[in-house]
Amino acid sequence: MISRIRNWVALHCRHQQGKLNMRLSVSRTISKNKKLIICLSLIIFVVNTVFLSINFYSLRETLLSSLFQQAKRHEEEFKLNLKMVYSSMLQMSTLISSSGVSQAFLLNKKQTTESKSSQNQEAEDSSAGQKTYQFGSVENKPPHLLSDKMQGYTWLRGISPLWAVDPETNGKIYVGAMDISTSFKDIVPLYAKLFQVEAAVLLNKDYIRTKMWNKNTKEYFEQHPEANHYVEIASSWDELLKILPKVFVRSDYKTDAVSMVYQDKSYYALYYFALPDSQDGESEETQTEPAGFMLIWENVSEQVSQSATNFFVNILLAIFGFVLIEIGLIWVLNRETRLSVAEQCAAIDELTGLFNRRYLDDLLDNELRRTAKSQDTPLSLIICDVDYFKRYNDTYGHKSGDDCLKKIADSLRLQARRSSDCVARYGGEEFVIVLPRTDLHSATDIAEAARKAILALNIPHSSSDIVPVITITLGVACTSTLAEYDTLFEAADRNLYIAKNNGRNRVEPTKVALPPRRLV
Ligand code: GH3
Ligand code: MG
Ligand code: MG
Repeated sequence: MISRIRNWVALHCRHQQGKLNMRLSVSRTISKNKKLIICLSLIIFVVNTVFLSINFYSLRETLLSSLFQQAKRHEEEFKLNLKMVYSSMLQMSTLISSSGVSQAFLLNKKQTTESKSSQNQEAEDSSAGQKTYQFGSVENKPPHLLSDKMQGYTWLRGISPLWAVDPETNGKIYVGAMDISTSFKDIVPLYAKLFQVEAAVLLNKDYIRTKMWNKNTKEYFEQHPEANHYVEIASSWDELLKILPKVFVRSDYKTDAVSMVYQDKSYYALYYFALPDSQDGESEETQTEPAGFMLIWENVSEQVSQSATNFFVNILLAIFGFVLIEIGLIWVLNRETRLSVAEQCAAIDELTGLFNRRYLDDLLDNELRRTAKSQDTPLSLIICDVDYFKRYNDTYGHKSGDDCLKKIADSLRLQARRSSDCVARYGGEEFVIVLPRTDLHSATDIAEAARKAILALNIPHSSSDIVPVITITLGVACTSTLAEYDTLFEAADRNLYIAKNNGRNRVEPTKVALPPRRLV
């Protein structure tokens, strides 16, 4: 529809000479509205994209934050378990520190001592508390503990010193130490089962070196020199091996609490936290390097697909909204364009493509108003009338008459050189040229040029009384103060009448009294 209008307009509105106070030309209106549609569409598109991006990140953040909360819960739960284990070990320590147990140790110590040779007796005594323990798995390890309290290691192991009262001397004697321990191997599978997750304990290489350097760990690190951690226990080795390539087992310890891994078409959330190497089972702050870290992971594909579905629905809504707004926008602007085009086309004379009388009236009104406001700015008007045109029609036919009017119109159009000048078809074979900011002298020159131009067209007119070609007669008027449309028009018309009476094919600019003017 728009392109049809445009073609029509391109055909008929090519001249576009006077644009004063006229609304935008049709093609400009169309392209302006087109640009408007494109701009608004781009803005809506950008807004939609921003909205979707924000939506995407907020859904992602929501998911990650819920996983982070989950990670924190696991950390608290697991550490609570460790504290409970430690507390059980303390109870055990209290139990074995009871006098009955200590006395049994004392008895054993004495028997052992008596069986030793007398020359070793002195040396034995001098290192009391260093080599007198014989029980539990602490054998061959220095007790270096001379306090009453159990000494804890890694929350899961404690060494409880045993003190007995010697009935002979009534003194307190160190009689040995009990190693009370449990293992991650006992706790982790239980924890994983209870919370329906998978879990593993990874100990740091440095920690292993100083505390657990045995045959197995040594071999492991010899085989994997790049490894920084040793997998102490995993609730499911198969599952662990699935995610291991994507985890940081071979990198340094990381402090992030949660991360996401995509493996075998499933999303896994990984929670990890440091395992402190507790010395007293109480404060974590006193700890320096962690023993390793706990890794807990679970399949969160369902949560991820839920978020993806939400996002997909939002994309659909955004597309739907965008299409709806676009349709509305295009409809409104198309309508506006059609109205605007129709309005502008109503200002065009269909035969010649010049402006029509309706437009001319509006233009003259505006120009006169402007002239009245800005004193001393002249406004000129030329009325052209084709001579003996009735005879032309009679001689050559109405169709030839139309063609002749078109040629005259094209020629007159060229006389309007300024963008503010306007050539219009006033009616029949009469044309009007409006020349803002043009004095009578200049307007007369333009009128004379127009007359000569039409004569030069050399359109045969055998029945003309003047010359055997088409001619025009012109009446000119000028004002710099008049505010009356009719007065100016009548003045020019009167001059035209005079020129006609004076023999046609001429310009009549004078003899009509107009208010004083100033030449520019
Ligand atoms: P004059 O020199 O005194 O102006 O004589 P004239 O014949 O030009 O003036 P008149 O007003 O008697 O006739 C004007 C003619 O213009 C009448 C009409 O046939 C012709 N005319 C008006 N409009 C059109 C048009 O659109 N097409 C054609 N072919 N002729 C038109
Ligand atoms: Mg006429
Ligand atoms: Mg005429």
